[in-house]
Amino acid sequence: MMDAMDAMEAGESSAPGQSAIAVDIGGTNTRVALVGPSLVPGVGQTVLEAAPTFATEQEYPTQMARLAAAVTAGLRLAERRGPGQPRGVGVALGGRIARDGACVLAAPNLRDYEGRPFVQDLSAQCGGLPVRLAHDAVCGLLAERRYGALVSVERCAYVTLSTGTGCAVHLGAADGSAGVTLSIELGHQLLDHNPRVCLCGQVGCLETYTGGRQLALRYGQPIESLPAAESLDLWRDFAAKLSIGLVNLAHLTRVERVAIGGAIALNRPGLLDALRVAVAERLRGAHLELVAASLGAQAPLIGAATLLATPENELLH
Ligand SMILES: [Zn+2]
Repeated sequence: MMDAMDAMEAGESSAPGQSAIAVDIGGTNTRVALVGPSLVPGVGQTVLEAAPTFATEQEYPTQMARLAAAVTAGLRLAERRGPGQPRGVGVALGGRIARDGACVLAAPNLRDYEGRPFVQDLSAQCGGLPVRLAHDAVCGLLAERRYGALVSVERCAYVTLSTGTGCAVHLGAADGSAGVTLSIELGHQLLDHNPRVCLCGQVGCLETYTGGRQLALRYGQPIESLPAAESLDLWRDFAAKLSIGLVNLAHLTRVERVAIGGAIALNRPGLLDALRVAVAERLRGAHLELVAASLGAQAPLIGAATLLATPENELLH
């Protein structure tokens, strides 16, 4: 076990055919899966087996105990499937990760996780198994760049529209020789004349118009269950406000293609076209291509597994 830990700390990639336990902790639900090479040619890594989704525990110690049980079950499953032990546990989390890549710095939807040594705690609960942690949008981006809608795009972003509004950006050299991936707070940029108070404590954040949790609190029910006639204004504002955020994203980072993922995007196929129209009306002096995240709901899980083969110095937490 220590050999694997030492190799990861040295930035070495694991064997590409090896499986991994992937964990996706959202503000609402947590998913755990065994991810490994697909038998379908050209697909790359895929979810081999998924454990039952469970509601994310707001209390950190309770969540840690549930994760340890799920990872242990995943290890038993991997043993039955063979060949070989998973290379470790990759975790996608809907929150900002500290610079050390090991602690949760800020998570407005998971307050009890803030300041916790997540990597150390989970590894200790799982017999010293290697654990890597990143923002869920970073994991989505890693998956889409390696296997999905962002393959070979050196200036790109992944936006997740879900409980919150997350984003990760990759900026790389044209020849692919160097690059960096980082999460940015797309949802907590301020919009002029927006008086709404965000769950993060700021006044005027974009996410007050686009975050699933904030909209559910505003409307008294999950937005997917709102009758169509009552939600017209919501979706018009959603696309209009998010398009401002995307235009800012293009100008501030110079990304050229954005993959849109997350539960809200997956459940509302017409949203992508509305965003394309709204962005085209506003954007001048730059080009921004909006595409659907092609790995769908699997993107954060596959990206979490990909984390274990990603050198830590390519990620800027
Ligand atoms: Zn905010």
